[in-house]
Amino acid sequence: MLWKDVCEIFNKIEKTTKRLEKRDYFIKLIDMVKEKGKPEDLKKICYMAIGRVYPEYDERELGIGEKLLINAVTSIGINKDELLEKIKETGDIGLAIEQLKSKIKQASLLFQPLTVDEVYETLKRVGEIEGEGSQKKKLRLISSLFLRASPIECRYLARLILEDMRIGMNVPTILDSLSVYFNVPKEKLEKIYAITNDIGLLSEKLLMGDLENDELKLKLFRPIKPMLAQLTPSIEEALLEMGKAQFETKYDGARVQIHKDGDKVKIYSRRLEDVTNALPEIVEAVKKIDVDKLIVEGECVAIDKETGKPRPFQDILRRFRRKYDIGKMMKEINLRVYLFDILYKDGVSFIDEEFEKRRKVLEDIVGYENDWRTERERIEEELKSDKIIDISYKLVTNNTEEAREFYNWSLSIGHEGVMIKNLKAPYTPGSRVRTMYKFKPTLESLDVVITKAKRGMGKRKDWYGSFEICVRDDEGNLYPVGHVGTGLTESDLEMLKEEIDKIIIRDLGEEVEVEPKIVIEVAYEEIQKSDKYPCGYALRFPRVVRFRFDKGKDDINTIEDVERIYEIQRGRK
Ligand code: ATP
Repeated sequence: MLWKDVCEIFNKIEKTTKRLEKRDYFIKLIDMVKEKGKPEDLKKICYMAIGRVYPEYDERELGIGEKLLINAVTSIGINKDELLEKIKETGDIGLAIEQLKSKIKQASLLFQPLTVDEVYETLKRVGEIEGEGSQKKKLRLISSLFLRASPIECRYLARLILEDMRIGMNVPTILDSLSVYFNVPKEKLEKIYAITNDIGLLSEKLLMGDLENDELKLKLFRPIKPMLAQLTPSIEEALLEMGKAQFETKYDGARVQIHKDGDKVKIYSRRLEDVTNALPEIVEAVKKIDVDKLIVEGECVAIDKETGKPRPFQDILRRFRRKYDIGKMMKEINLRVYLFDILYKDGVSFIDEEFEKRRKVLEDIVGYENDWRTERERIEEELKSDKIIDISYKLVTNNTEEAREFYNWSLSIGHEGVMIKNLKAPYTPGSRVRTMYKFKPTLESLDVVITKAKRGMGKRKDWYGSFEICVRDDEGNLYPVGHVGTGLTESDLEMLKEEIDKIIIRDLGEEVEVEPKIVIEVAYEEIQKSDKYPCGYALRFPRVVRFRFDKGKDDINTIEDVERIYEIQRGRK
């Protein structure tokens, strides 16, 4: 497969803003691989289309900065000053290199054309080079690609190296293309995707006609996308829908997914980042669990041992993000994990089992139930204990009064509310389902991403003063729902200035447009209908509650969530 053929289709994908057209062009790519290439090529093309060399579950990055890229292309005869000028003019290093490469007449014609395989494998090698002289070696490999690349190939090569393709391709659109081309229901592909987190692998196996391949099943040390809950307007409504349900304390902490194989333990965050190194005491506690192979999920809470109550969420973040002095931090901030689900044990996957059964397996592992109705006294005594691994407090009931009492008790011990779980439901990775609800006292706060920052005035003149915040649709397109400036301390503003300056896409004078990387949680007085914003809703009086460095732009709330909360709010009025 020639890299040039792929680039030409990438160009078409880039040119259209219509999702269906993007899907259809991607289908052409699949077709082309089928005709001219190998299944492995499709795998590589999928990664490349979303600006990656490694699968999505794999946190490694190429880690090549603009500087090295510029050095590489200047070493093949592109003038540096001209290049810098062009980057300024186009706002895109890919386009800049493309335009200047077209002025170098002789080059690419003299060489064998680049293949997808070569580009991919060379970049993978670049990512793996370490140690002395590594920069030089990387430079040499990258230059060798640019030397042979035609102008348009240069554009996508440069963007791929910086891991930002700018063609508007994302996993849902690729899944759509695969579903249409191979005539497999999208839900089925979505489920496999949530388990593998690897769009390349999925597409490769599809092309081989091997969807039952073991590689596509749950696997230790490859984190799976978590099952998510919906907000319910009331306990009554959830019970009406579910009949009997399991209520659990909704802990105020951070979700963890723990994988164990003998003495090897890894812990992943809600975003599936590997946070093992920051949490040594949890790793040690998990090692002691008397099961060989395990994947479990739980909420990691920072416990104040004096009061038995949770400490602020920021303290968890301090633990999760810590890279040095971990021992010291460990003494300062004590953690406890409340396990609430099990996905895998000793070679057996539990994701298709009913929740009731999964819970029973989990209870057998820890050796007790934590049933609030019968074990409340012990539970309360142990709030201040040194326990590191625990199991979530539960109440199985169909009685609203009893459920409400449990909810109030959960709030009284400092947590957020309750989860309400359907006893018969399987584990549905990666989706927000009606078999698991959350119920909290206030209108749900929203996780939104910052897309623009306005330069501050007066007291805030050295910083940015207010921020455009967005929710997303199912395809990942972003929609503003307001501007937020309150709820930020001076040190927050200081930090935001630093972070925002690193991700500016365009300077618009009074404000700057930024890459959607900073996720914040905002509270608000209410959601209003609005003509001002294309999505039709605006947040009234939003205020920042906290930074969600544990979330990315794919984890923010959706327009659908905004609509749902709007309806709940109308119901309450
Ligand atoms: P939030 O921002 O409210 O934490 P979220 O978007 O991270 O929500 P949701 O699925 O909406 O995720 O809410 C469920 C979250 O609540 C889980 O991701 C988990 O982190 C947390 N949680 C706390 N206690 C429990 C529990 N007992 N069972 C399941 N999830 C729990």
